[in-house]
Amino acid sequence: MKAIGIVPGRPETAGVVDLPEPPLSDGSLLVRTRLIGMCGTDVEIAVDGYGVPPPGEDRLVLGHESLGEVVEAPEGTGFEPGDLVVGIVRRPDPVPCPACAADEWDMCHNGGFVERGIKERHGYGSERFRVDPRFAVRLSPALGDLGVLLEPTSVLAKAVEHAERVGARGWFEPRVALITGAGPIGLLAALLVRQRGLETHVVDVVTQGAKPKLVADLGANYHSTPVGELPLAPDIVIECTGLGVVARDATRIAGPGAVIALTGISHSEHVMEARPDVMNKALVLGNKAVFGSVNAARRHYDQAADALARADPDWLSRLITRRLAPEDWPLALEKRPEDIKIVIDMAAGE
Ligand SMILES: [Zn+2]
Ligand SMILES: [Zn+2]
Repeated sequence: MKAIGIVPGRPETAGVVDLPEPPLSDGSLLVRTRLIGMCGTDVEIAVDGYGVPPPGEDRLVLGHESLGEVVEAPEGTGFEPGDLVVGIVRRPDPVPCPACAADEWDMCHNGGFVERGIKERHGYGSERFRVDPRFAVRLSPALGDLGVLLEPTSVLAKAVEHAERVGARGWFEPRVALITGAGPIGLLAALLVRQRGLETHVVDVVTQGAKPKLVADLGANYHSTPVGELPLAPDIVIECTGLGVVARDATRIAGPGAVIALTGISHSEHVMEARPDVMNKALVLGNKAVFGSVNAARRHYDQAADALARADPDWLSRLITRRLAPEDWPLALEKRPEDIKIVIDMAAGE
């Protein structure tokens, strides 16, 4: 069967590879893949060599953002043929560490976890995949192809949930949210905080294209002014650019008791003036909390599935800006200005 593969760090090796049928050891559910979402992580794997192929192999099958239809489900699994499902990315480490033992593999302490399509396990980017029911999430059939947005939404569901939990350490009634970055992650973050009824502000450098309108259609405010100049004192910040300077400025303008979730990573060469004592003082005197957030536990996938089911499907469909056949997947590595989410149609040509 066809799969989308690459040798990490060697973009010229990106292509379609022939893979045997998925092994039963991957899980009892057999799934026919519909769509695979591509994101910055895939580009990092291709260009920077971030990912790790399975032991003994030099090539990694991509696809950590999945969507498929169950073909085979043994009785007692809770799934049935035809169910729309997404596979969870991370698997707990084998020890397991206390966090993984508590099913919070997203908080793994020993780094021994594996991730489908990223770290030591092939991804879901093949015509069919297998997954254990414990790591499969069922979606409302009404979502259809939009279900491919579940995995990136789960990452934000975690960030927002953790922000609320951190905030709840004291009196916390968040009213204003700031999202930095209006890419797919920032837009999904804006969706989640809008669903909680927060006054939402999204800041990004672009002034044209689909992003400002997508933000406005959520009932949120779009800004293209530098973060440090925004006349806001947000209670929750979800930082999605990965730029240290943006994180610094967002932390500075955040209000008393604010919680700032950092969800992005960047490799910019930008050198900024940093005055740690000033930051220290702002955090202490403002009771502010900054935390990093990556990946998602099972409950965050379930929260994300609920959020997507409640969202306007027309709005969600506007996030998917390019759809490529498997043979053309390397084109997803070249980002175009109008791109939000690129998906690979693994059933194309069937
Ligand atoms: Zn991703
Ligand atoms: Zn662990």
